[in-house]
Amino acid sequence: MSLISVAIDGPAGAGKSTIARKVAQELGCLYVDTGAIYRTVGLYALRKGADPKNEGEVVPLLEELKVEMQVESDGIQHMYLNGEDVTAQIREPEISRCASAVSALPPVRAFLLDMQRELARTRSVVMDGRDIGTVVLPDATVKIFLTASPEVRAMRRWKELREKGNTDTYEEVLRDVIQRDYDDSHRAIAPLRQAEDAVLADTSELDLEESIQLLLNIVKERQ
Ligand code: C5P
Repeated sequence: MSLISVAIDGPAGAGKSTIARKVAQELGCLYVDTGAIYRTVGLYALRKGADPKNEGEVVPLLEELKVEMQVESDGIQHMYLNGEDVTAQIREPEISRCASAVSALPPVRAFLLDMQRELARTRSVVMDGRDIGTVVLPDATVKIFLTASPEVRAMRRWKELREKGNTDTYEEVLRDVIQRDYDDSHRAIAPLRQAEDAVLADTSELDLEESIQLLLNIVKERQ
Protein backbone atom coordinates (compact mmCIF):
# COMPACT_ATOMS: atom_id res chain seq x y z
CA MET A 1 0.00 0.00 0.00
CA SER A 2 1.40 3.41 -0.85
CA LEU A 3 1.84 6.04 1.83
CA ILE A 4 -0.41 9.05 2.06
CA SER A 5 0.09 12.37 3.79
CA VAL A 6 -2.68 14.76 4.71
CA ALA A 7 -1.54 18.31 5.52
CA ILE A 8 -3.98 20.37 7.57
CA ASP A 9 -3.15 24.02 8.17
CA GLY A 10 -5.19 26.87 9.54
CA PRO A 11 -5.50 29.53 12.21
CA ALA A 12 -5.71 28.92 15.96
CA GLY A 13 -9.12 27.82 17.18
CA ALA A 14 -10.37 26.29 13.93
CA GLY A 15 -10.60 22.91 15.70
CA LYS A 16 -7.63 21.53 13.77
CA SER A 17 -6.27 19.13 16.37
CA THR A 18 -9.60 17.58 17.38
CA ILE A 19 -10.69 17.18 13.76
CA ALA A 20 -7.27 16.04 12.50
CA ARG A 21 -6.97 13.41 15.25
CA LYS A 22 -10.34 11.90 14.32
CA VAL A 23 -9.58 12.00 10.61
CA ALA A 24 -6.26 10.20 11.26
CA GLN A 25 -8.08 7.55 13.28
CA GLU A 26 -10.61 6.97 10.49
CA LEU A 27 -7.87 6.73 7.87
CA GLY A 28 -5.56 4.57 10.02
CA CYS A 29 -2.78 7.19 9.82
CA LEU A 30 -0.38 8.53 12.43
CA TYR A 31 -1.58 11.90 13.72
CA VAL A 32 1.14 14.51 14.18
CA ASP A 33 0.34 17.71 16.06
CA THR A 34 3.27 19.93 15.06
CA GLY A 35 2.17 22.72 17.42
CA ALA A 36 3.12 20.38 20.28
CA ILE A 37 6.68 20.23 18.93
CA TYR A 38 6.99 24.04 18.97
CA ARG A 39 5.42 24.07 22.43
CA THR A 40 8.11 21.67 23.69
CA VAL A 41 10.86 24.02 22.47
CA GLY A 42 8.98 26.95 24.03
CA LEU A 43 8.83 25.11 27.36
CA TYR A 44 12.56 24.47 27.30
CA ALA A 45 13.33 28.13 26.57
CA LEU A 46 11.11 29.15 29.48
CA ARG A 47 12.72 26.68 31.87
CA LYS A 48 16.18 27.89 30.89
CA GLY A 49 15.17 31.50 31.52
CA ALA A 50 15.77 32.47 27.89
CA ASP A 51 13.78 35.24 26.22
CA PRO A 52 11.79 33.17 23.67
CA LYS A 53 11.87 36.07 21.19
CA ASN A 54 15.65 36.38 21.35
CA GLU A 55 17.40 34.29 18.72
CA GLY A 56 20.79 34.67 20.45
CA GLU A 57 19.39 33.22 23.66
CA VAL A 58 17.26 30.44 22.14
CA VAL A 59 19.55 29.06 19.42
CA PRO A 60 22.34 27.78 21.76
CA LEU A 61 19.67 25.80 23.61
CA LEU A 62 18.86 23.76 20.49
CA GLU A 63 22.19 21.93 20.81
CA GLU A 64 21.23 20.48 24.18
CA LEU A 65 17.63 19.79 23.28
CA LYS A 66 16.16 16.45 22.29
CA VAL A 67 12.51 16.52 21.28
CA GLU A 68 10.72 13.23 20.75
CA MET A 69 7.17 12.27 19.98
CA GLN A 70 5.52 8.97 20.79
CA VAL A 71 1.97 7.77 20.48
CA GLU A 72 1.26 5.64 23.55
CA SER A 73 -1.35 3.03 24.43
CA ASP A 74 -3.80 5.77 25.48
CA GLY A 75 -3.75 6.88 21.81
CA ILE A 76 -2.37 10.30 22.81
CA GLN A 77 0.68 11.89 21.23
CA HIS A 78 3.14 12.27 24.11
CA MET A 79 5.97 14.79 23.88
CA TYR A 80 9.34 14.11 25.46
CA LEU A 81 11.84 16.82 26.30
CA ASN A 82 15.27 15.28 26.93
CA GLY A 83 13.50 12.10 27.99
CA GLU A 84 10.91 13.74 30.27
CA ASP A 85 7.21 13.43 29.41
CA VAL A 86 5.99 17.06 29.11
CA THR A 87 2.63 16.32 27.43
CA ALA A 88 0.61 18.10 30.13
CA GLN A 89 2.99 21.03 30.80
CA ILE A 90 3.05 22.20 27.18
CA ARG A 91 -0.69 22.99 27.32
CA GLU A 92 -0.26 25.83 29.85
CA PRO A 93 -1.32 29.23 28.39
CA GLU A 94 2.13 30.63 29.15
CA ILE A 95 3.61 28.00 26.84
CA SER A 96 1.30 29.04 23.97
CA ARG A 97 2.98 32.44 24.00
CA CYS A 98 6.50 30.97 24.25
CA ALA A 99 5.76 28.51 21.43
CA SER A 100 4.51 31.32 19.24
CA ALA A 101 7.64 33.39 19.96
CA VAL A 102 10.19 30.60 19.32
CA SER A 103 8.30 29.53 16.19
CA ALA A 104 9.06 32.92 14.62
CA LEU A 105 12.84 32.25 14.82
CA PRO A 106 14.23 30.81 11.55
CA PRO A 107 16.84 28.49 13.19
CA VAL A 108 14.11 26.94 15.34
CA ARG A 109 11.99 26.21 12.27
CA ALA A 110 15.00 24.75 10.44
CA PHE A 111 15.86 22.59 13.47
CA LEU A 112 12.36 21.09 13.55
CA LEU A 113 11.87 20.70 9.81
CA ASP A 114 13.76 17.42 9.38
CA MET A 115 12.07 15.88 12.37
CA GLN A 116 8.64 16.64 10.91
CA ARG A 117 9.56 15.38 7.43
CA GLU A 118 11.09 12.22 8.86
CA LEU A 119 7.81 11.36 10.58
CA ALA A 120 6.05 11.34 7.21
CA ARG A 121 8.77 9.46 5.34
CA THR A 122 7.97 5.94 6.50
CA ARG A 123 4.31 6.19 7.56
CA SER A 124 1.02 7.58 6.39
CA VAL A 125 0.32 10.73 8.38
CA VAL A 126 -2.23 13.39 9.08
CA MET A 127 -0.13 16.37 10.15
CA ASP A 128 -1.53 19.66 11.39
CA GLY A 129 0.13 23.02 11.86
CA ARG A 130 0.60 26.35 10.10
CA ASP A 131 3.04 25.56 7.28
CA ILE A 132 2.61 21.84 6.60
CA GLY A 133 1.20 22.19 3.06
CA THR A 134 3.44 25.15 2.19
CA VAL A 135 6.82 24.17 3.70
CA VAL A 136 7.01 20.86 5.58
CA LEU A 137 5.20 18.56 3.12
CA PRO A 138 4.92 20.48 -0.16
CA ASP A 139 4.13 17.17 -1.93
CA ALA A 140 1.44 16.06 0.51
CA THR A 141 -1.22 13.80 -1.03
CA VAL A 142 -3.99 16.09 0.19
CA LYS A 143 -3.75 19.63 1.57
CA ILE A 144 -6.54 21.21 3.53
CA PHE A 145 -6.79 24.75 4.86
CA LEU A 146 -9.15 24.50 7.79
CA THR A 147 -10.73 27.70 9.01
CA ALA A 148 -13.80 29.32 10.53
CA SER A 149 -14.77 32.95 11.01
CA PRO A 150 -12.94 34.81 13.83
CA GLU A 151 -16.28 35.24 15.64
CA VAL A 152 -17.05 31.51 15.57
CA ARG A 153 -13.52 30.58 16.65
CA ALA A 154 -13.63 33.13 19.47
CA MET A 155 -17.01 31.82 20.64
CA ARG A 156 -15.73 28.22 20.74
CA ARG A 157 -12.61 29.30 22.63
CA TRP A 158 -14.59 31.49 25.05
CA LYS A 159 -16.89 28.57 25.94
CA GLU A 160 -13.88 26.30 26.48
CA LEU A 161 -12.18 28.86 28.74
CA ARG A 162 -15.39 29.50 30.68
CA GLU A 163 -15.69 25.76 31.43
CA LYS A 164 -12.18 25.92 32.88
CA GLY A 165 -13.25 28.79 35.15
CA ASN A 166 -11.60 31.57 33.13
CA THR A 167 -13.44 34.94 33.34
CA ASP A 168 -12.25 36.62 30.12
CA THR A 169 -15.10 38.22 28.17
CA TYR A 170 -16.07 37.14 24.66
CA GLU A 171 -14.83 40.51 23.34
CA GLU A 172 -11.41 39.96 24.90
CA VAL A 173 -11.15 36.46 23.44
CA LEU A 174 -12.19 37.77 20.01
CA ARG A 175 -9.55 40.51 20.16
CA ASP A 176 -6.96 37.86 21.02
CA VAL A 177 -8.03 35.62 18.11
CA ILE A 178 -7.78 38.53 15.66
CA GLN A 179 -4.36 39.54 17.00
CA ARG A 180 -3.02 35.97 16.75
CA ASP A 181 -4.34 35.63 13.18
CA TYR A 182 -2.52 38.83 12.29
CA ASP A 183 0.75 37.75 13.94
CA ASP A 184 0.69 34.25 12.40
CA SER A 185 -0.02 35.48 8.88
CA HIS A 186 2.39 38.45 8.94
CA ARG A 187 5.54 36.88 10.35
CA ALA A 188 8.54 36.88 8.03
CA ILE A 189 9.15 33.15 8.04
CA ALA A 190 6.60 30.45 7.14
CA PRO A 191 3.59 32.76 7.59
CA LEU A 192 0.18 31.15 7.82
CA ARG A 193 -1.33 31.08 4.34
CA GLN A 194 -3.34 28.69 2.24
CA ALA A 195 -1.19 26.64 -0.15
CA GLU A 196 -2.25 27.16 -3.77
CA ASP A 197 -3.23 23.51 -4.10
CA ALA A 198 -5.00 23.28 -0.73
CA VAL A 199 -8.75 22.79 -0.42
CA LEU A 200 -10.45 25.41 1.77
CA ALA A 201 -12.65 23.89 4.47
CA ASP A 202 -14.72 26.43 6.40
CA THR A 203 -16.33 24.96 9.51
CA SER A 204 -18.15 28.13 10.67
CA GLU A 205 -21.54 26.52 10.07
CA LEU A 206 -20.57 22.92 10.91
CA ASP A 207 -20.46 20.96 14.15
CA LEU A 208 -17.59 18.60 14.97
CA GLU A 209 -19.11 15.51 13.35
CA GLU A 210 -19.95 17.42 10.14
CA SER A 211 -16.44 18.92 10.04
CA ILE A 212 -14.82 15.46 10.30
CA GLN A 213 -17.10 14.18 7.52
CA LEU A 214 -16.22 17.15 5.32
CA LEU A 215 -12.50 16.43 5.68
CA LEU A 216 -12.90 12.71 5.09
CA ASN A 217 -14.82 13.49 1.89
CA ILE A 218 -12.08 15.86 0.72
CA VAL A 219 -9.43 13.18 1.36
CA LYS A 220 -11.44 10.48 -0.45
CA GLU A 221 -11.98 12.70 -3.49
CA ARG A 222 -8.29 13.61 -3.79
CA GLN A 223 -6.54 10.46 -2.64
O1 C5P B 1 -1.18 24.73 17.19
P1 C5P B 1 -0.65 25.26 18.48
O2 C5P B 1 -1.43 26.41 19.04
O3 C5P B 1 -0.40 24.19 19.51
O4 C5P B 1 0.80 25.85 18.11
C1 C5P B 1 1.58 26.57 19.04
C2 C5P B 1 2.34 27.68 18.29
O5 C5P B 1 3.31 27.10 17.42
C3 C5P B 1 1.43 28.54 17.42
O6 C5P B 1 1.25 29.78 18.02
C4 C5P B 1 2.15 28.71 16.09
O7 C5P B 1 2.60 30.02 15.93
C5 C5P B 1 3.34 27.77 16.18
N1 C5P B 1 3.31 26.77 15.10
C6 C5P B 1 4.01 27.03 13.95
N2 C5P B 1 4.05 26.12 12.95
C7 C5P B 1 3.44 24.94 13.06
C8 C5P B 1 2.68 24.64 14.23
C9 C5P B 1 2.64 25.60 15.24
O8 C5P B 1 4.58 28.10 13.83
N3 C5P B 1 3.53 24.04 12.08
